[in-house]
Amino acid sequence: KVKGAFKNADNILVSLTVLSVVLGMGVGLVVKLTLRYDDYAVMLISFPGELLMNMLKMLIIPLIVSSLISGLAGLDPKSSGQIGKWALIYYFSTTMMAVVLGIILVVLIHPGNADIKKQLGQGTNKRRAPSTLDSFLDLLRNIFPPNIIQAAMQQISSKYVNKTKAVTDRMLKDMLSQNKTTEGLTTNSTITYEVTATELTDSTNVLGIVAFSMWFGLVLSQMGEKALIMVQFFALLNEVVMKMVKVIMWYSPIGIFSLVIGKVLQIESLEETAAALGMYMLTVITGLFIHACFTLTLIYVVICRKSPIGFFKGIFQAWITALGTASSAATLPITFRCLEEKIGIDKRVTRFVLPIGATINMDGTALYEAVASIFIAQINARKLEPIQIFTVSITATLAAIGAASVPSAGLVTMIMVLTSVGLPTDDISLILTVDWLLDRLRTSINVLGDAYGAAVVHHLCKKTLDEQDAEILKEAANYL
Ligand code: ASP
Repeated sequence: KVKGAFKNADNILVSLTVLSVVLGMGVGLVVKLTLRYDDYAVMLISFPGELLMNMLKMLIIPLIVSSLISGLAGLDPKSSGQIGKWALIYYFSTTMMAVVLGIILVVLIHPGNADIKKQLGQGTNKRRAPSTLDSFLDLLRNIFPPNIIQAAMQQISSKYVNKTKAVTDRMLKDMLSQNKTTEGLTTNSTITYEVTATELTDSTNVLGIVAFSMWFGLVLSQMGEKALIMVQFFALLNEVVMKMVKVIMWYSPIGIFSLVIGKVLQIESLEETAAALGMYMLTVITGLFIHACFTLTLIYVVICRKSPIGFFKGIFQAWITALGTASSAATLPITFRCLEEKIGIDKRVTRFVLPIGATINMDGTALYEAVASIFIAQINARKLEPIQIFTVSITATLAAIGAASVPSAGLVTMIMVLTSVGLPTDDISLILTVDWLLDRLRTSINVLGDAYGAAVVHHLCKKTLDEQDAEILKEAANYL
């Protein structure tokens, strides 16, 4: 009976979430077409959504720290080794598959040509871009932040983002100064860049926190009984945070409703750009669709031998939250709850792999970076040699690993892909207008990839985890 009640509550929540998206789009469109409104009204309408984002972000640090430390401390070295190994194999191989798929599609569909560049105008970002080596060094800097408290408070405290911030500020100024002469694109791009700059400087160096917590948890796991009190502390902290997530889940339909209306109201008329960028968007969307429905689903079905429909139903709420927030980090609390409560993945697996997955495993972003870079080559009439395409595939993978799990972060790390093959980074500003849509779509695939990953790793490590359970039971019996 109790289980039935839980299922009912789950179904109600999923239905409310779907309703919130559909209603949000409907109401947004009606308001857009019939009423006059200003930025202040949009801010007020988006306010419940802003609160949802804040509540989710608020839990990211305690969740990541407590889950990784308690997860790793609770595993014996054999199990953590197994889980870590399979997780990395899964992350790396699926990201590469996404990149290869993106490259095949963009080469076959060929959405870009030189005319498009004429239609869209020039890029507005005149500056020297950081080199690929700079970006790679910054990735490492982020893994080893000099100050862990600061890493939790400030975004990616590295030279790269400082540069990036300067870059975005400059772009913003460029665009504003051109505002009088350029129509359509400029206004919209400016808004997006404002958002990108704020989002990036606002958020946390999650990669650094993940690395620190993993290290901490691993050391704790080797300290035996002495460490027990600390392990219990972090396990309890994790439980408390997960209970807090439950409240947010029930608030999320209201928040998502408001986020969707706010977004619909902000979209500028896209007719001009839609004509030029339509095929490009179609290429990205087709790639994301194939990767989610075929590649990832097939891997799950072949390895776990379970129905993907039940799985998708279970993580539906996380998927919609990713669509609404365009941030895998903000979605992380919901992903945890869906996988642990609805799909029944072992907490030792979720606590270990989900925070890492949300930070480094971004299939959607990787696919997107590959397609966008080759599209930029096409509109500049630059033919890439096979070796350059190979370079794109490697740098797109690295760029996806390095991208922060916040909105539009993929655009910033794309600088690295473009510079690696000598393409103009200025042209990122040309594809900005459609990033509000492509960003949320690729984020939803990033989250889906993390979720499938947790299930696959759980299945592959089940035997080792069962052995650890048996060992614990045996020890407990001896003790009694
Ligand atoms: N928004 C994406 C995420 O949070 C990152 C990106 O911009 O591709 O997963």
